[in-house]
Amino acid sequence: MISISHHGATSGVTGSCHELTVGHAAEKSGILIDCGLFQGQDEGRGASASDLSIDFPIEHIRALVVTHVHIDHVGRIPYLLAAGFDGPIICSEPSAIMLPEILEDALKIGFTRDRQLIERVLGLIRSRLVPVPYGQWHSVFAEGDCSLSVRLQRAGHILGSAYVECDAREGETEERIVFSGDLGAPHAPLLPASQSPERADRLVIESTYGDKDHEDRETRRYRLKAVLEHALEDGGTVLVPAFSIGRTQELLYEIESLIHEFGGELWNNLEIVVDSPLAADFTRIYRDLKPYWDAEATELVRQGRHPLSFEQLTVINSHDEHLNAVDYLARSHRPCVVLAGSGMCAGGRIVNYLKAMLGDKRNDVLFVGYQAAGTPGRDILNYGPKGGWVQFDGNRYDIRARIHQVSGYSAHAGQSDLLRFIDGISEGPQEIRIVHGDESAKQAFKKELDRRGFPNVLIPVGS
Ligand SMILES: [Zn+2]
Repeated sequence: MISISHHGATSGVTGSCHELTVGHAAEKSGILIDCGLFQGQDEGRGASASDLSIDFPIEHIRALVVTHVHIDHVGRIPYLLAAGFDGPIICSEPSAIMLPEILEDALKIGFTRDRQLIERVLGLIRSRLVPVPYGQWHSVFAEGDCSLSVRLQRAGHILGSAYVECDAREGETEERIVFSGDLGAPHAPLLPASQSPERADRLVIESTYGDKDHEDRETRRYRLKAVLEHALEDGGTVLVPAFSIGRTQELLYEIESLIHEFGGELWNNLEIVVDSPLAADFTRIYRDLKPYWDAEATELVRQGRHPLSFEQLTVINSHDEHLNAVDYLARSHRPCVVLAGSGMCAGGRIVNYLKAMLGDKRNDVLFVGYQAAGTPGRDILNYGPKGGWVQFDGNRYDIRARIHQVSGYSAHAGQSDLLRFIDGISEGPQEIRIVHGDESAKQAFKKELDRRGFPNVLIPVGS
């Protein structure tokens, strides 16, 4: 029997985690695709370690395949190791470089402050990493009449992201199962777009934006320009709550291109601050991994441009520097863009900026990513334009800053992109499982797939 099950999201605090198993009962072997930590609505509920510990059998799990290093796909890896998982962690080459960095941060925040213990866990993770080049089959196991191989293909979502093709065989039965991971929007800056797989008998696909499309890149760039111009006109600050990996680098890339195009005294005055050691780390890694950039970005480098390390860019590391920057920018009248985490304003350095600056109409808040229900980010987005307020640490902050949302930088495929991905599969799926999205997005995407006549479209429980 070749079976798929879903372990994520069952308790509301865990993220993506799927299992593919080949064989029967005691004889079976399997792999996990991702092992993530949910961020959003339930985060503030105070998930205890026991909520996060692995609550399903893993004795037969032979490997973990990581699609990409966002925390909702990898955050529970320490718990998986704690549960006794002793197999390899298979991922793309860029992901292998980024995974220990992202988990170090996650461990410090959610697991332990014990430096030695963190080093031990990271050492263990590094020793298990098996980087596999894109487009190359890798055998996970082949014993008796059961075998399983995986192949990673570019997903265009963040650096290193992949969808996973799995060839599973038991006796005469042989099946190609594809797990999409998170798919990127085509025409995103920096990364080449994903290509559909040639074949998928069963497809497990994300649906974060299964119910809508993004603005196209030109519209997005135009709106980003308008927000920055507001700051340039009145010396305000544009606050961008940004996730460390992906959006931050895409935005820097776009801002560099706007400065390059419009230049002049005004635009050259604009300062860009990345106030996040982690985002700065990942920007460096993005910069180092130019072979994974798309043709457009590679061409800019050839022309002598530095899309991710330009002149007006400042990086803030220490907490003292951070506090100084908040204080300085709240008082100064210099146009500035600040990128700081967390992306949904549920914590991190962006919170100090918001507390200090939401009340001033010179400032702007620009959301570039998905805001989950229950996060301060969602509240600012909902109530800000109506002159409302948001709560941080039990205090109320009135919102006078202008609030904007530009959806395309969130690095997730929109509905048409997801449909194109599926339509492009020449040997199309006999079953599609929709995972990873708000209930309404999943339902809307299922409706669309049903309407187009795809057989067996399911929304599995606990996905
Ligand atoms: Zn992701």
